[in-house]
Amino acid sequence: MAKYKTHFEECDVLVVGGGMAGTGATFEARHWGRDLKIICVEKANIDRSGAVAQGLYAINCYMGMQWDENQPEDHVRYARNDLMGMVREDLGYDMARHVDSTVHMFDEWGLPMMKNEKTGRYLREGKWQIMIHGESYKPIVAEAAKKSADKIYNRIMVTHLLMDEAQENRIGGAVGFNMRTGDFHVFRAKTVIVAAGGASHIFKPRAVGEGMGRTWYAPWSNGSAYALPIAAGAKMTQMENRIVLCRFKDGYGPVGAYFLHLKTYTQNANGENYEKKWYDQTKELVGEYIDHHPTPTCLRNHAFIQEVAAGGGPIHMVTKEAFQDPHLETVGWENFLGMTVGQAVVWASQNIDPKHTNPELTTSEPYVMGSHATCSGAWVSGPEDLSPPEYFWGYNRMLTIDGLFGAGDTVGGSAHKFSSGSFTEGRLAAKAAVKYIEDKKADGINVSDKQCEDFKTAVYKPLETFTVAQNEITGGTVSPSYISPIQGLQRLQKIMDEYVGGITSNYMTNGNMLKRALELLVWLQEDLEKVGAEDYHQLMRAWELKHRTLTSQCVTEHTLFREETRWPGYYYRGDHMKLDDENWHCLTVSRRDPKTGKFTLEKVPVYHIVDENEKKKAS
Ligand SMILES: Cc1cc2nc3c(=O)[nH]c(=O)nc-3n(C[C@H](O)[C@H](O)[C@H](O)COP(=O)(O)OP(=O)(O)OC[C@H]3O[C@@H](n4cnc5c(N)ncnc54)[C@H](O)[C@@H]3O)c2cc1C
Repeated sequence: MAKYKTHFEECDVLVVGGGMAGTGATFEARHWGRDLKIICVEKANIDRSGAVAQGLYAINCYMGMQWDENQPEDHVRYARNDLMGMVREDLGYDMARHVDSTVHMFDEWGLPMMKNEKTGRYLREGKWQIMIHGESYKPIVAEAAKKSADKIYNRIMVTHLLMDEAQENRIGGAVGFNMRTGDFHVFRAKTVIVAAGGASHIFKPRAVGEGMGRTWYAPWSNGSAYALPIAAGAKMTQMENRIVLCRFKDGYGPVGAYFLHLKTYTQNANGENYEKKWYDQTKELVGEYIDHHPTPTCLRNHAFIQEVAAGGGPIHMVTKEAFQDPHLETVGWENFLGMTVGQAVVWASQNIDPKHTNPELTTSEPYVMGSHATCSGAWVSGPEDLSPPEYFWGYNRMLTIDGLFGAGDTVGGSAHKFSSGSFTEGRLAAKAAVKYIEDKKADGINVSDKQCEDFKTAVYKPLETFTVAQNEITGGTVSPSYISPIQGLQRLQKIMDEYVGGITSNYMTNGNMLKRALELLVWLQEDLEKVGAEDYHQLMRAWELKHRTLTSQCVTEHTLFREETRWPGYYYRGDHMKLDDENWHCLTVSRRDPKTGKFTLEKVPVYHIVDENEKKKAS
């Protein structure tokens, strides 16, 4: 291993991932920890990394408390409704009560916010969304992080967390490698905040072959946010709650501005409102949840999926009416220019002008994330003033490993945070991490050189494997003694797609299929010991694949554990097709034993804190 140079860094706060949550954490850590050493490590370059790399056209989470537009309680009720009851209300409330201050800082930092000419307020796209000219959203928040950190390391993929050897279950830092130089980096840290985004490409995407990068979710998000804590033995929650998106076909262009601002609507190939047709059938499955307003995202997907399966497709977005208004037409196009230029290109290539042709919609393959209309992620402590005992163990957003914090897509149970809420959660985690250091909880950490060396050997193994195995290539990339990252990725996607509720089975799975998937995933894990990488870029692909596979195992275990169909339209348990509030009105929590690799799962109560408090006040 001597041929790979090792760099050592010691710091107080280590932020893994410089996306929305990571930049928020880096910024806030400096506010509370003036004299602390703060490092942010990013796989890409923080100026253009993460899900917001291309920019956004709307900030999807803003209360508007200064004008009494919404209160945090309203947002909790909204997220709870959308997730069919299953959210951590303490985390959601905590984010919501702070998110406006984050947005006001974005405004001060120069993010162009659209204003309502009549009221002077931020221009609303919907109840929670405000509109921005957000092409440069990411560079703006990156600048705040750059000014706050002692050092930003770009192009380093973090592969493993380091554990303290002096005290059990305490964090000690992280390791990774630079994808350009190949150097190994050891970060010994008193606290680590994981903010490494969600996971795409664990289920087979609709676009394959040359088009496989065309997914709704950022193709470079590879589940490190989950794999890093899972491998270290942290508890996870709601990992079964993968998300399926209804978006414009092939380009995955956003539909929010179209529905909310342009007031476009959907119809089936015969011009019918198909959602109404599926009301009775949906009521059979989920009961009164279908009568909630707004209709939960998964249930709208459900009507779409059923209609297409019944032969009513393709489903179209009716744009022809709205686009006759030149202002709305401009907004429709600008919406893509600000965040998904590719959709405009797809329409051009398919001769679709939405003024004259209603474009098709599709449902995506599933993704795993914690900040959108979904809440997979780590099981974290909530804030001390809100959280019941089961949800609180000392420091806000701390995982079940001491000194390890999370934010954004990393954190489970708190849906609908979006970009602003993820940045806010990064701020909350950083404040708590600084407190943890001030409380002297991180004193005496010992991370031995041996632990670092062992990880170094593991990290570079794919390069070593390739060096030897390339001599046995029989043709192209075929070799009896190694598999390439792309071969492994396609195998993973096939397992998840066919057995765990991907597009091939129309999002359907059951206990038998899930057990088979788990078998196949174990064998894939075994074979990944033989993954080969021909260069540093492929080494990154190899580690992305390993992180995706561990995340997938956790998703599959959770999906097997929850014996009901809680979110029809996200996935179906064919052997338990109905929502079952009597047995499953609870959160699911898992832990993988780092020594044995075995998962254990438990049910944890879901507390409806907001309305309980209201009831108490009333009585
Ligand atoms: C297609 C799409 C559209 C969206 N539209 C909107 C919208 O209109 N409005 C809105 O408010 N929100 C929107 N969101 C949500 C918003 O983008 C996310 O909520 C937010 O980016 C989550 O923040 P995060 O920091 O958890 O993840 P990210 O912002 O994705 O950041 C994760 C970072 O971690 C880095 N990373 C990953 N693995 C590693 C590793 N192993 N080592 C080091 N670094 C690593 C990544 O490179 C990345 O920079 C959208 C999301 C998507 C995917």
